[in-house]
Amino acid sequence: MTVDRQDHYPFAEIDAKWQRRWDASGLFRVREEPGRPKYYCLEMFPYPSGRIHMGHVRNYAIGDVVTRYKRMRGYNVLHPMGWDAFGLPAENAAIEHGVHPAVWTSENIETMKAQMKKLGISYDWDRELSTCDPEYYRWEQLIFIRMFERGLAYKKSASVNWCPGCQTVLANEQVEAGRCWRCDSEVVPQQVDGWYFKITAYAEELLEWCDRLAGWPERVLTMQRNWIGKSEGAEFNLPIVGRPDLAIRVFTTRPDTSFGMTYAVLAPEHPLVDALLADPAERASVAAFRAEVARATEIERLATDRPKRGFRLKAGALNPFNQAEIPLFLADYVLMGYGTGAIMAVPGEDQRDWDFARAHQLPIIETVKRPPDWTGEAYTGDGVKINSGFLNGLTVGEAKRKAIDWLVEQGLGEARINYRLRDWGISRQRYWGAPIPIVYCPRCGTVPEKPESLPIVLPRNVQITGKGGSPLADLPTFVNAPCPRCGGPGRRETDTMDTFVESSWYFIRYCSPRFDGGMADPAAVHYWMPVDQYTGGIEHAILHLLYARFYTKVLRDLGFFKIDEPFQNLLTQGMVIKDGAKMSKSKGNVVSPDEFIATYGADTARIFELFAAPAEKDLEWSDQGVEGAFRFLNRVWRFVQAHRETLTRPVDARPAALSRQGRAFRRVIHETIQRVTNDIEEFHFNTAISAIHELVNALHAFAGDSLDRTAQEERHALLREAVDTLLRLLAPFAPHLIEELWSQLGHADSVFRESWPAADAEALERESIFVVVQVDGRVRTRLTVRPGTGEEALKTQALADGKVRPWLSAREVERVVVVPGRLVNIVTRGPA
Ligand SMILES: [Zn+2]
Ligand SMILES: [Zn+2]
Repeated sequence: MTVDRQDHYPFAEIDAKWQRRWDASGLFRVREEPGRPKYYCLEMFPYPSGRIHMGHVRNYAIGDVVTRYKRMRGYNVLHPMGWDAFGLPAENAAIEHGVHPAVWTSENIETMKAQMKKLGISYDWDRELSTCDPEYYRWEQLIFIRMFERGLAYKKSASVNWCPGCQTVLANEQVEAGRCWRCDSEVVPQQVDGWYFKITAYAEELLEWCDRLAGWPERVLTMQRNWIGKSEGAEFNLPIVGRPDLAIRVFTTRPDTSFGMTYAVLAPEHPLVDALLADPAERASVAAFRAEVARATEIERLATDRPKRGFRLKAGALNPFNQAEIPLFLADYVLMGYGTGAIMAVPGEDQRDWDFARAHQLPIIETVKRPPDWTGEAYTGDGVKINSGFLNGLTVGEAKRKAIDWLVEQGLGEARINYRLRDWGISRQRYWGAPIPIVYCPRCGTVPEKPESLPIVLPRNVQITGKGGSPLADLPTFVNAPCPRCGGPGRRETDTMDTFVESSWYFIRYCSPRFDGGMADPAAVHYWMPVDQYTGGIEHAILHLLYARFYTKVLRDLGFFKIDEPFQNLLTQGMVIKDGAKMSKSKGNVVSPDEFIATYGADTARIFELFAAPAEKDLEWSDQGVEGAFRFLNRVWRFVQAHRETLTRPVDARPAALSRQGRAFRRVIHETIQRVTNDIEEFHFNTAISAIHELVNALHAFAGDSLDRTAQEERHALLREAVDTLLRLLAPFAPHLIEELWSQLGHADSVFRESWPAADAEALERESIFVVVQVDGRVRTRLTVRPGTGEEALKTQALADGKVRPWLSAREVERVVVVPGRLVNIVTRGPA
């Protein structure tokens, strides 16, 4: 970053001075004020990795603009910050460098907090919280107990994605192309005992509310809907040939295609498989097939681009719709966790089944008439039923209903809704997390802690090796615990909770972060919640947001807070990229916020990041863009310095009537207010800043050439009005510089205690507007008319105009099209 910066404004002193003053005056410390409108502005809290990066800066700058703006609009604005402090990197650092995760984490927090303070973000630091604090996680331990009592937290054994590198369970999204997102190890399936939250009990409500979150990006709602994955269809039995005691339950979303069933498939791990095997040879082959499948993760098994492996059983099934005998397969693309773990295969109308049928030479029957130009493989569109017995001639929708009615009549099946969403596995076999408050007692079984024994504090004195599961298991003082029910010797759960549990309620804790009577003071929660504006990265579009929504609903149903949804409006900001890639250490394209601020000051960082791209789009780093932002702020600084005398001299009386030029300038001022206000309300920060740029240009022009043309008095009044407005509009974007200029102009109090400017309707009124007149599509003149001039008057004036008449003399007017306020188009016809 080299730049000729002689003569720039003294940002270093100004930044430090105002950060100190805001802090000392408690400008951004807030409390509940019933009766005053509130606004809760929140950015996703960071993991304390050690330093903030330009992506964080962008995220926090957005929240800061909104906070300062809403405050000037009279809202009581809550803007807190804290630390998502548990998690794997701290533990990995402990393994690599021998530093305790608690020490590593708190050192990182100190560093990052100092960086944030240098950015001058308007946080209420009194509300800072850290999720690794026992006074924080004790409340989620209490909620765990309440959930356990209601069956919303339970333990089961399941096949999970296991990272041998991190020695922990990964969620599906944490597996990228079969590898761990963090350490790149190959992920393997493993059967593990663990704790689950029953989010599936909320699938329907979570889905329904997607339709009511009008302030969320449609893209995020679509991702959430797909993740929940509701499918409606039918479940019914396929009898096994020659085995009246056995039937396979299948689920299908397309019961109308049942006549096209040419085979059926069971998940290799389906519990009925063993009963279907004919002899020891088949048993051995199935065991081999199962072992082969077990080497693939769920994600690989579901991938559409890999060959579908299958094993044909000797047993066969009967299609109850037409009594046809069909072969039975085991195949890796059917999973036990979805639906019933068995499907009827209809290759005519399902591409996955089509691929499998082709690979295994199975018949394909079409049951929907194809459009005439159809050349594809499986057909999933609408149409008329064919080859389908009593369903022939119906549409797909009609046939679905009729097929279900028939299944119910025959006592074979029923209508059924399935969800792709599965319960949330919250167990982690790791140290640096919140302990799960459960004790295993040989007499009483699985027993929750007594609430009065909370918090179950994570012990400090452990050996972290990264090998063989949770190190807590090796700590007798932790593991050996009395049974909370009978007092006998018990063994404490050594798994810790997924860190997504902590981030599912931190926004509630911020409402009263020091409250010790529960998660948060209900009065404070009911004043502040829901969050009015939530800003964060698109990478959290599914899990974090879904879990936070679920947890909020659970808290409601447990009787804690009457809140249905935590986040009213959501903004997912884009990434900061440089040279075409996301900034990262490994790519060597990182711009350090510290270095940047030392070179340009905090306000340039904010202006550049907000101006360079719309908030929700990726932002490509540009040194010229940075220079432009810096020059702009210096230009504002120099203008105020140059006109300081005029700008501080009181205005005696505002002139009664402005000159023509004065009126035009005043209109620019008030149009800018309108534009900037609307843009901020819609999070179009880049266009808001460009409107302010235009105002600064107009200000220079007016100050430069107006002396001889407008009266001194008028010029003085308008300059003051313009600069006063400019500073208020720019304050949320460049708060340090503007505070300094505001105080230089003689204001004793912070600009953030001032109100946001309001556009004056009178100033916005235009005296006259131009209307273009075309004859046969070519512009011939422009009329000067009063705004609101009617169609007839425009038409008359256009036809009578001296510059138009010659073009009409030899021709006949066929018709006249008028766009009021814009255009008159006269269409003529050949020589009369
Ligand atoms: Zn890993
Ligand atoms: Zn007991």
